[in-house]
Amino acid sequence: MRNKIVAGNWKMNNNSSETAELLTQLISKIPETTAEVMVAPTFVNLAQAVKQLSTSSMEVVAQNMHFAENGAYTGEISANMLQSIGIKTVILGHSERRAYFGEDDALLAKKVDAALKANMRVIFCFGEELQDRKSDNHFKVVETQLKNGLFHIDKGQWKQIVLAYEPVWAIGTGETASPEQAQEMHAFIRKTIAGAYDQETAEMVTILYGGSVKPGNANEIFSKPDVDGGLIGGAALAADDFAAIVAAI
Ligand code: PEP
Repeated sequence: MRNKIVAGNWKMNNNSSETAELLTQLISKIPETTAEVMVAPTFVNLAQAVKQLSTSSMEVVAQNMHFAENGAYTGEISANMLQSIGIKTVILGHSERRAYFGEDDALLAKKVDAALKANMRVIFCFGEELQDRKSDNHFKVVETQLKNGLFHIDKGQWKQIVLAYEPVWAIGTGETASPEQAQEMHAFIRKTIAGAYDQETAEMVTILYGGSVKPGNANEIFSKPDVDGGLIGGAALAADDFAAIVAAI
């Protein structure tokens, strides 16, 4: 049985007191669930979030990290720094990192290696742009992102990987992939992993869908057999919406 996960990516939102307030609301509103529930506040608020959630089952995760262990990388954060405040999971490859900060597959492969070496879990994001889908290239693009960013890892390291398929055209746009489009791509991703590794690895990996998931569409998307949860952006910033999405899993 694969782990189900609902993760909220807060992006560059919420200062220290807003973070505390949203977490207080989430603590009282998130329903009992067997799924893993994660929140990803911005770097500067991670430590306070870890403290505030110390008695909660919600996990605090990071939105990014650098590949080096330490050194002259002004403004960057290492795996060790994250772990030293209790962070065990990091999101890598978000489309905003790829688009606005020039993170390409080769850089992401280095970040993946650094996280795995530090024994962290990785939520690896990828997904096609609108023109890829319009030109019927979406499967090829996704396959290439997976191959270049991830397929160098060993079979045994896949237990540290969670995938998040996030079609770029559906992120923050209000436009959602239909449940059928999500299922079709998730099944393709599993088939691609089975081809590169084996069926057991493909069946074990949790694959999240991300892209304008809301309380109103979560049920239908999560009901698809290869969709194991969601990476939630906008709706993760409102406690009632995030709680309703968690309830849908
Ligand atoms: C995201 O940023 O990962 C995301 C899915 O955002 P949204 O839910 O707002 O589309």
